[in-house]
Amino acid sequence: MSAFDALRFWHEPDFAGCMGWYREVAADRLPAKFRICAALPAGVALGAPEEELWRALDEGTKKFIDLRRRVWAGESLANETPNPSLLDLVAELGRRMLAHCNFCKWDCRVDRTRGEKMGACKLAAETRVSSAFHHRGEELVYRGTHGSGTIFFTSCNMRCAFCQNGDISTDRLNGEPVGARTLAAIAVRLRQEGCHNINWVGGDPTIHLHTILEAIALFPRDFNAPMLWNSNFFQSDEAMKLLRLTMDVWLPDFKFGPGRCAIELARTGWYWETVTANLLSLREWGEDLTVRHLIMPGHVECCTVPVLDWIAGHMPEVPVNIMDQYHPDNYCDPGNEKFMERHRPLARFPRRSEILAAFRHARSRGLRFESLSYERNKTGTRL
Ligand code: SF4
Repeated sequence: MSAFDALRFWHEPDFAGCMGWYREVAADRLPAKFRICAALPAGVALGAPEEELWRALDEGTKKFIDLRRRVWAGESLANETPNPSLLDLVAELGRRMLAHCNFCKWDCRVDRTRGEKMGACKLAAETRVSSAFHHRGEELVYRGTHGSGTIFFTSCNMRCAFCQNGDISTDRLNGEPVGARTLAAIAVRLRQEGCHNINWVGGDPTIHLHTILEAIALFPRDFNAPMLWNSNFFQSDEAMKLLRLTMDVWLPDFKFGPGRCAIELARTGWYWETVTANLLSLREWGEDLTVRHLIMPGHVECCTVPVLDWIAGHMPEVPVNIMDQYHPDNYCDPGNEKFMERHRPLARFPRRSEILAAFRHARSRGLRFESLSYERNKTGTRL
């Protein structure tokens, strides 16, 4: 048994019956989804009009689902790689979308290849990486024994006033520009060094979807690693269609309730409906995921409770990390020159009573949260 298989979380009740696909790919016993995608033909010339490409993607997705089921049952992938493959089609659609950008729910429709008008993320076509390393701070299921191969992208499509990664998310010139080849090489190196997954994160990765998909399409034929989508989950339906064929495991951040908090704290409309719709897609597709929820001071009733209720009502089997690590940062930090007085209520740590209320509510709803939430929580609070 490998050290990864021997890790204790596989035997925790919270993980019973979960994450099977991810575990097999991480241990190299199954090919990652992108390899299955690369084994199928695109079924269309890549120069075709975009509507034709989307139709071919829908057809290809049906074949992908069937082949993935057979691979899961023990069938090997063929040695030949069709040209163009379904994976090439996915990368091409990422490039096409960039020219009328609808990667996320802002649906800005700006041509980022020209860079004359910017959308909500304020980015043109360039992708910048802030850092790439073996992340030993992620949940045990992701960091394992050798770390999660994490690639932090610059910039974000949301504006969380308290962002704990503000240096990365709010400074679009942070980090170094990377092309798809460099990005692919970074991912390959991280896996060769022993990382259990490639963890696409930011800021937010969605706004760099074109470069990420192109990099995945450039991976060497013998490369294998689970792709982890670690995101605010504000991506569009079209982005989800492309990610479905390339991401093996998902780490959505589900922060705000259905009221006005996402608008007031993150200047983001359509938050609740977008994130819940994307989560429902994952449930319908039978994907592997764990959810993160950050306890924000003063937001247990309006955010934590409805978020946990929604998970309990729609995907009660999914492990949840209820995080107690909030600290005042960015516009909520009185010691920061960016501090805004209207965010004064968020300029404190969550109280122990709030953390306990969150945990109690999760337990009352029967959620699987204890393994993930207690493992390394900052305050050491337990029920
Ligand atoms: S990634 Fe989102 S915010 Fe950025 S231009 Fe595209 S749709 Fe707009």
